[in-house]
Amino acid sequence: MGRLSAVRCGFGTGGAGLAVCLWAAFAGAAGTMTAPAGPPASPAELVLTGGAVYTVDAARSWADTVAVRGGRIAYVGTADGAKAWIGPSTRVVELGGRFVLPGFHDSHLHPISGGMRMLRCELSGATTAAEAVERVRAYAAAHPDRFWIVGRGWELPLFPAANPRKEALDTVISDRPVYLTSADGHSAWVNSRALALAGITAQTPDPPGGRIERDPATGEPSGTLREAAKPLVSRLLPETTQEERRAGLERAIELAHRAGLVGLFDATVDAIELPIYRDLDREGKLQMHVGIGMYIDDEKAFAPQLAEIIALRKQDWGPHVHLTTAKLYVDGVIESGTAALLAPYLNRGGSRGELLWDEARLREAAIALDREGFQIHVHAIGDRAIRVTLDAIEAARSANGPRDRRPTLAHIELFDPADVPRFRSLGAIASFQPLWAWADPYIRDLTEPYLGPERSRWLYPIGSVAATGAVIAGGSDWSVSSMVPLEGIEVAVTRRGPDEGPGPAWLPDERASLATMLAAYTIGSAYAAFDERESGSLEVGKSADLIVLDRNLFAIPPHEISEAEVLLTLFEGREVYHDPAIASSLSR
Ligand SMILES: [Zn+2]
Repeated sequence: MGRLSAVRCGFGTGGAGLAVCLWAAFAGAAGTMTAPAGPPASPAELVLTGGAVYTVDAARSWADTVAVRGGRIAYVGTADGAKAWIGPSTRVVELGGRFVLPGFHDSHLHPISGGMRMLRCELSGATTAAEAVERVRAYAAAHPDRFWIVGRGWELPLFPAANPRKEALDTVISDRPVYLTSADGHSAWVNSRALALAGITAQTPDPPGGRIERDPATGEPSGTLREAAKPLVSRLLPETTQEERRAGLERAIELAHRAGLVGLFDATVDAIELPIYRDLDREGKLQMHVGIGMYIDDEKAFAPQLAEIIALRKQDWGPHVHLTTAKLYVDGVIESGTAALLAPYLNRGGSRGELLWDEARLREAAIALDREGFQIHVHAIGDRAIRVTLDAIEAARSANGPRDRRPTLAHIELFDPADVPRFRSLGAIASFQPLWAWADPYIRDLTEPYLGPERSRWLYPIGSVAATGAVIAGGSDWSVSSMVPLEGIEVAVTRRGPDEGPGPAWLPDERASLATMLAAYTIGSAYAAFDERESGSLEVGKSADLIVLDRNLFAIPPHEISEAEVLLTLFEGREVYHDPAIASSLSR
């Protein structure tokens, strides 16, 4: 039936067997396992042949040829078997042994805000003050229609006393105001025009909780505003428009296609952003499966927010937009001591961080959302946040009975080992951001010292969670970090930085197999978005969402995974990205 070779359960290492059996439960239910018998009624539009095709079906089969008709996968198997699908108008692409995978899905990111950020003046990565200024000049020159020049990302250490001066900006732009937030968000760098528009002079007092940095000789504001002094200028910035949001989303989708993504889960959507997706989808420009996580604000009353998302769900948001999910933030982050821990931080005077939703309120919210049929998607980073979220899911299960609910916990950085098996037993999805799971300065300097070695052993235990057979989903949290799935996959497999070569792994027991991670970024994240019947594996009847890579990831050293290039991305059988240099050589 068209498979070159079937790979048995247990391919790779570490718990893949259990995981595969769980996948089988839902992949089999899709009813897309078998190729139709007999000759096709009409030929395929496209046949990709001569590749190493890793299908990520339940059996983790390999093939060498895929045929696409009407935007769907018509055939998966051998070149011989595909002959019946080739007609006079079929485009046949000879892959020359290149690697074919289902298109990737990202289980947690922020496309609109991330895309908008890219459309503003980006200073992150500038390594000198002069480089930062040059970027501002170039951006202003490229956007003559923008009155305000707004940007972010400058690093404090680039400037004497972390104090950039207005004059540096004035030399490149004096007729328009400039407002640039620092990388940590606590300071803003402005030019003289911005200070003038805000009426900030030597006589302006520092606002409570803020500081206007001043020239020590003249007392004139020098161009840096701290904390509560920032709004003196930022309140003048134009409000974000729908056009900007839309442009941001379009930019994000472009990047996603280049990274091999065909599915995105927007982890924090509000009622203003939702129509952007609908409009793009109606125009046929949303070439992406999109899951929507409607944001539920812990600081606002719950009931009206529930009523609002129920009402929104009744509307038609487009064929590719699925409003299935409510998103809650249960805690903060470890680095700043705001993640909720079971035991105190070692450096914060006994503090354990705080829950944004206390246990009782979270339980009630989870039960109510679940009763209305919403999937819950929770930001949970500390071991206490993970514990109380799993408890709330358990409470929703017993209150509302059996249902296909797929609750998802995202980020999940620090575990208590007792909670590792609960993901599988509760049917909760583990949405890891694997790009964070290596000993970078966040871990070395800002996490391990605050937790101590015993607890640090349970940071990002992807291998242990995978070994239980729980569904793992892969996500980036972009624009917090790179959205390129191959980078996250490499880090999960090596527990080393994506740009590092071979060497010792950080917490080597928690490495995950390549098969586990490819499943996480394909069928796993598609499953988390209720899209696994449509996408996430290469099986007959599914949407033809696939990518071609320049090399077989199973045949290279793991530290080279992120060097692989995406040559081609197909969404519903349409080419949404091809590598300009190489992909043309694929055609014949
Ligand atoms: Zn996020």
